[in-house]
Amino acid sequence: MAKQEFKAESKKLLDMVINSIYSKREVFLRELISNASDAIDKIYYRALTDDNISFNKDSYYIKIDPNKDTRTLKVMDTGIGMTKEELESNLGTIAKSGSFNFKNENELKEGYDIIGQFGVGFYAAFMVADKVTVVTKSLDSEEAYKWESQGSDGYTIEPAEKAEIGTEITLYLKENTDDDNYDEFLEEYTLRQIIKKYSDFIRYPIKMDVTER
Ligand code: ADP
Ligand code: MG
Repeated sequence: MAKQEFKAESKKLLDMVINSIYSKREVFLRELISNASDAIDKIYYRALTDDNISFNKDSYYIKIDPNKDTRTLKVMDTGIGMTKEELESNLGTIAKSGSFNFKNENELKEGYDIIGQFGVGFYAAFMVADKVTVVTKSLDSEEAYKWESQGSDGYTIEPAEKAEIGTEITLYLKENTDDDNYDEFLEEYTLRQIIKKYSDFIRYPIKMDVTER
């Protein structure tokens, strides 16, 4: 598939996310985990009304997988996944995704930095990654697809191989510079701290292998 451009307003918003809006880039992980949890919720609610779907709690989880060799960080879930059309509409238009909607006034708390008041979402990944891929298989589709983007220049979607229903997001971390070190997001200890800080309330298990690479 030819590279699709983000909608114009999305381009500006994406540049904002990447360059200025967050004071703490570690919150990208909160956003990805929150999406993963939402995706599992969706299967759960589907199972309540559809007898063909069983919800066995043990098969639903989120997994974080850092790899120092490839400098990638994967966030995978066994949630509902996305069809090709959903990939297109959910990850192709930033403003439409629910990202960047100001929360209502009750949710605006004093003392929070301004960014805490946005729901920034998926695109926060580009604060730490210069390339992101999303491989996903929907509960409603036989086929799996891969979405890939290097930021504001657009994205591609192509068929992919994936056996299980769910979504696997791979962040290709940015190169370190004198001022910025992204390798911290490959450290199990740091990742656990970030998860504890922002995602402690998530109802599904968040797994991480402890094997040394
Ligand atoms: P929001 O979560 O506020 O809707 P996001 O930018 O975080 O906005 O995500 C955009 C949309 O992309 C979500 O609403 C959802 O439909 C889809 N999405 C993102 N991550 C996943 C995932 N892991 N599994 C299924 N759908 C996802
Ligand atoms: Mg979200």
